Amino acid sequence: MFSFLYHLNTTFGKTFETIDPRTGEVITRVAEGDKEDVDLAVKAAREAFDHGKWPRMSGYERGRIMMKFADLIEENVDEIAILDTINAGKILTHGKLLDIPFAAKNLRYYAGAADKIHGKTLKLSQEMQGYTLLEPIGVVGHIIPWNFPSAMFFHKVAPALAAGCTMIVKPAEQTPLSALYYAHLSKLAGIPDGVLNVVNGFGPTTGAAICSHMDIDKVSFTGSTEVGRVVMQAAATSNLKVVSLELGGKSPLIIFDDADLEKAVDLALLGVLHNKAKLIIINLYVLVLVFLVQEHNFVDVMELQGEICVAGSRVYVQEGIYDAFVKKAAEKAKGWVVGDPFHPNTQQGPQVDKKQFDKILSYIDQGIREGATLLTGGKQVGEKGFYIEPTIFTDVKEDMRIVKDEIFGPVMALMKFKTVEEAIERANKTRYGLAAGIITNNLNVANTVSRSIRAGVIWINCYFAFDFDCAFGGYKMSGFGKDLGMEALEKYLQTKAVVTPIYNSPW
Ligand code: ADP
Repeated sequence: MFSFLYHLNTTFGKTFETIDPRTGEVITRVAEGDKEDVDLAVKAAREAFDHGKWPRMSGYERGRIMMKFADLIEENVDEIAILDTINAGKILTHGKLLDIPFAAKNLRYYAGAADKIHGKTLKLSQEMQGYTLLEPIGVVGHIIPWNFPSAMFFHKVAPALAAGCTMIVKPAEQTPLSALYYAHLSKLAGIPDGVLNVVNGFGPTTGAAICSHMDIDKVSFTGSTEVGRVVMQAAATSNLKVVSLELGGKSPLIIFDDADLEKAVDLALLGVLHNKAKLIIINLYVLVLVFLVQEHNFVDVMELQGEICVAGSRVYVQEGIYDAFVKKAAEKAKGWVVGDPFHPNTQQGPQVDKKQFDKILSYIDQGIREGATLLTGGKQVGEKGFYIEPTIFTDVKEDMRIVKDEIFGPVMALMKFKTVEEAIERANKTRYGLAAGIITNNLNVANTVSRSIRAGVIWINCYFAFDFDCAFGGYKMSGFGKDLGMEALEKYLQTKAVVTPIYNSPW
């Protein structure tokens, strides 16, 4: 299966191990790009942008090739899903049914937009008229994380391809495999050489070389807020390249007294543990959400074991249902099936690597030391691999680290509130602003809260409702610049104004 990896080489022939999080064992070695390899990739991308066909061909033709790329992904979905399962610990059925089909559909969405990129005509004055051209921004560096190796790849690559950009993608060092497969498929689809370059490697070397490169016009980054700051600094001190950042979160989920208890608990667990979403959703909303998943491509189900920037890890429950909620949440979390992501009954797979695993356990330890009560979980599952029990804390205070920091693991902080105003104030008490969830049947409450929370996406009576037509991205220290939707296409375009006199110029 991995034979294609050995054909890839880097300037100095360096390689690094990639690990299976189910066992902690080495899967294979992958070519490790360094600054010199980034230079070579940028040279190829620059040449393809400045003189190649891709930015110059019609949008329709670009779209046609992107459609072919999407077809190839769908034809190879089984193999790609296996790559993401062994490399990222993603549940196999989710990869096959949701994550990878979503990636292909995302490509098709932007393929359809590629021939609908227009500027404006400008009347200006009696003497002058003009128009604007929307031009591709140039050579783009995409730096992506490990939690959604396939979806993240196309969140970035699909709109940039549609815009006519050329690009270098640096996957996370934990999950290099599926990106290489996508590079291989892009060639088969007919994307010209130099347009899509994948360079695997580490953040401080390969990633840093992209951010400070003088010949890259834009960096689109998804990752931690800490690294986002470094990316922006490097862009500022090099060539002032345009930056967009999709960063961390500590999203609140607010559950009001009138919520259906059973559904609210399921959504809360889904919000932080995730992975099981599909099963929960089918149980919950039988036809409606199955219909949404199948027909409208809502990917309510795509992240894993709390490893998602929008995890609803701060759960505020109104006092009237708080006690019943705590009891039910404990029951359900204890029944959660944690295990091999290849197994069809598994609801939660392993964390991606030892570093994340240790970090999550240390947060759990800190929560206990700070005085929170461990309602469920808190320990490793089994002895091999990076599995962690679904963990819920109660008796949590706003200033505890488990409430303030992004843990990126299956850890929920459960808190009680009294009034709508209190819920809004506490929900906003975070440096992040990525997402929020509200569970209530009261329209006035839903409207008030959704307008008052400073976050880039608000889910009312649902969670993780992603769609490629729905812009996604943060407020505050969760970043700026959207992925998905037509907004993402705009990120890869720049406006040129062309102005001309109507009559012969007096000058
Ligand atoms: P996480 O904590 O989720 O691993 P990171 O922000 O560390 O998130 O990593 C996200 C992506 O950023 C990865 O591809 C990683 O290699 C890359 N990265 C890490 N450090 C840097 C850096 N200094 N410059 C550029 N990219 C980096």
